[in-house]
Amino acid sequence: MTTTWLAVPQDSPFGPHNLPYGVFTAPDQPGRRRIGVAIGGFVLDVGAAARAVGEPSVLLDADSLNPLLAAGRPIWTQVRASLTRWLGEESYRAAVSPCLLERGEVELHLPFEVADYVDFYASEHHASNLGRIFRPGSDPLTPNWKHLPIGYHGRAGTVVVSGTPVVRPHGQRKAPADPMPSFGPTRRLDIEAEVGFVVGAGSTLGSPVPLESFREHVFGVLLLNDWSARDIQAWEYVPLGPFLGKSFATSVSPWVVPLDALEHARVAPPARDVEPLPYLDDRDAEPWGLDLSLEVRLNGHPISRPPFAAMYWTAAQQLAHLTVNGASLRPGDLFASGTVSGPEVDSRGALIELTWNGENPVELPDGTTRTFLENGDEVTITATAPGPDGTRIGFGEVTGRIVP
Ligand code: MN
Repeated sequence: MTTTWLAVPQDSPFGPHNLPYGVFTAPDQPGRRRIGVAIGGFVLDVGAAARAVGEPSVLLDADSLNPLLAAGRPIWTQVRASLTRWLGEESYRAAVSPCLLERGEVELHLPFEVADYVDFYASEHHASNLGRIFRPGSDPLTPNWKHLPIGYHGRAGTVVVSGTPVVRPHGQRKAPADPMPSFGPTRRLDIEAEVGFVVGAGSTLGSPVPLESFREHVFGVLLLNDWSARDIQAWEYVPLGPFLGKSFATSVSPWVVPLDALEHARVAPPARDVEPLPYLDDRDAEPWGLDLSLEVRLNGHPISRPPFAAMYWTAAQQLAHLTVNGASLRPGDLFASGTVSGPEVDSRGALIELTWNGENPVELPDGTTRTFLENGDEVTITATAPGPDGTRIGFGEVTGRIVP
């Protein structure tokens, strides 16, 4: 049982067993970005703490997580052990206490410079629902879906931190009945509740990363909202996939939960009914299903509770697939799961599914309804996972408000 000398409630989502990493500025030095670790209601300035206890601080004294990401698994393990010791052993209390700030007083920033961004499509429920909506009468899943984790390359430069306003994008829209496309603000702005995986250690061009090397490359996990303009997307996506309907903004939560904090959340993925090719076959590998419980709130009202454990493809399979052609990884690469949707109506992770393409609007407590997002709407995604000894691992939240 991990303990701390700090006053942290037993049920805190940011207990001593979590220790997620972020980047913050504080009011005393608003221009100086620092690495912080969340613990209870506090943020530990880890660079200052390292200096205070006289231990190496160079990776922790940075203005982003990238140097730490690049350092690799043995260093990540060492740094986490140091943090656990500093916050756990009474003998460090006097030196470390002055490096704690109230979490409510700091501003959180994008925690790392995003290198490449890839988004997958790993929920069978989500993919089947979209298939039923867009290709009625044919197989809900495309013939390739159970043979490979489908994905597309997104836009790394427009990944933004939680709280960044999302400007309603303009673009070409054409409903099937329209004779010609028109230009203007999207009328079908949607969310996709997803989980993102942050790559730390890079890989060599030409060398695939096999399933069993997942831990060596993936540093941690965050929450992600893949904002999607469905009308722009529907008109542009054939045959090369999503482009401007998604590249205008992708929001991420400010805290990166270390993979090490999720040991108790690991579960077997759902049974697969198609045998995958050997490089994707995880039947004899460690299972990387993760029991994360997501919640999506629209203007404060819960509209969905997507279960991440229901995802067909795991992050380890996605990483193996994304590098199987020899494409290399860089520190700061980000790949996302795809919309997390479960089997129930109220566990779907996008409005297009929740409202069945606008046919069944979502009702809000103020009496209004939504098919897609309106200006002023705010969407917040949160998640927790099981931790050790009945504790919970919190991911914080990713939130964004739509502006015209
Ligand atoms: Mn997506």
